[in-house]
Amino acid sequence: MRRPQRLAELAAHLGVSAASASDTVAALVAKGLALREADPADGRARLLRATPRGQEVAARIPAAPAALTAAIAALPGSERAQMLAGLQRLIRSLQEAGAIPVQRMCATCRFFRPHAHDDAARPHHCDFVDAAFGQAGLRLECGDHGMAPADRTVANWQRLDAALGVSSYEVVHL
Ligand code: SF4
Repeated sequence: MRRPQRLAELAAHLGVSAASASDTVAALVAKGLALREADPADGRARLLRATPRGQEVAARIPAAPAALTAAIAALPGSERAQMLAGLQRLIRSLQEAGAIPVQRMCATCRFFRPHAHDDAARPHHCDFVDAAFGQAGLRLECGDHGMAPADRTVANWQRLDAALGVSSYEVVHL
């Protein structure tokens, strides 16, 4: 978690109740791994942030087993891109069916502007870091993600689908 988040946002991402998330956060705060701070956007709300020690601990947790990372890196670029597109569609179908919590993917992020640039290598834009990026840079899990409104998420998926030449209606609805 790089961007400070409210408890409700964190709980939704983890797919747990606010009470469970609150207990976990209290334990992390007690261990000096997280802290609560005032939300500049709302004086009554609190944001959660990892402390430097919490960030150190998080950085030691591997994102994926080394063997898996190496196997994926060995795939040709075109196959990696296909796999990424397939994974996005799979996750999208599962979350639209309510089988999993909404994942912190670019397509559901308020900072994401798909195909904002007339540049085939880097068509997308991330407003959080104010930078263009390519198809392979689409994130499935991003610590800076901010949940977009539902209509923006639909528009993002439609734009991505259109660029891939598929219909949004071809997404499997479970
Ligand atoms: S890289 Fe992260 S912050 Fe940027 S658009 Fe994607 S999910 Fe959002």
